Amino acid sequence: MAYPGFLKKIAMCTPVLSDVLVERDRLRGEISFAGEKLNMIQAAVTSSSVKLDLTYKKIEAMEAAVKSVERRGYCHCCRQETDFEILGDWLRDQYLCVNCSSIPRQRHIQYVMDKYFSGWGLGSIHESSPSNDFISRYCERYSSSQYFEGVKFGELVGGVRCENLEALTFNDDSFDLFITQDVFEHIFNPELAAKEIMRVLKPGGAHIFTAPKHKHVSLSYPRARLAGANIEYMVEPEYHGNPIGDGRALVTWDYGDDFESLIGRWSDSSTTTYLTRDRLLGLDGEYLEVFVIRKAAVG
Ligand SMILES: [Zn+2]
Repeated sequence: MAYPGFLKKIAMCTPVLSDVLVERDRLRGEISFAGEKLNMIQAAVTSSSVKLDLTYKKIEAMEAAVKSVERRGYCHCCRQETDFEILGDWLRDQYLCVNCSSIPRQRHIQYVMDKYFSGWGLGSIHESSPSNDFISRYCERYSSSQYFEGVKFGELVGGVRCENLEALTFNDDSFDLFITQDVFEHIFNPELAAKEIMRVLKPGGAHIFTAPKHKHVSLSYPRARLAGANIEYMVEPEYHGNPIGDGRALVTWDYGDDFESLIGRWSDSSTTTYLTRDRLLGLDGEYLEVFVIRKAAVG
């Protein structure tokens, strides 16, 4: 090519141009070297991201394995190994047995019965306002009742006995165990109900129950009371779900720190509180306490 030769000729006569050409060649070399380096770095990045993907997948697999171990446990409601599923932050209602859909307080009451009232299935049990059949599954002498507005106490409504906890129609000393699950916060006169339950229990029997005991309340107080045929509200009315009627139950009492001593006094006995947190038994969440009041044995 004539052109480089021509440049060389000029370069030989022009030292400055010669320097420029040398510098140009040097820079070309550097660019080429940098390009090679870039290729190497890109290859390293690609290989690292492949490795990172693999690591993420490993971590995910390990987390899934840990989760599956955490979920596994024994359910006292359906009496089998099962998985427990957490559907939300409010464990009280959102921590379910995948087999029987039980919630923590239901599993806890049956755990307490299995652990401290061994053989309870052979006794006579009455449950007020049950919302599930977990206890009845394991007890032949199980009976239950609901409160129906305007129905004579002791009569049947569609095969279900109507009872008012404040004025039970059962004889004295009728049952080994009396169960109330989240019922006592819906009674206008829980003192009468506590006394009635003790009356119908056999000596040595027990009232086993759940009720929300609020952490921020020091003294229990009524939210509403009966004034003749009317309801008088001391605070804003609040309702919970109800398995019968219009599906809602008025909250009549907020219980606090004094709950055990209060209901113990009403029952003329003392209250034992059980609180068990064990994910292997699906036991965790809010308002998990199970309360037990025993009726004194004769002699
Ligand atoms: Zn279950």
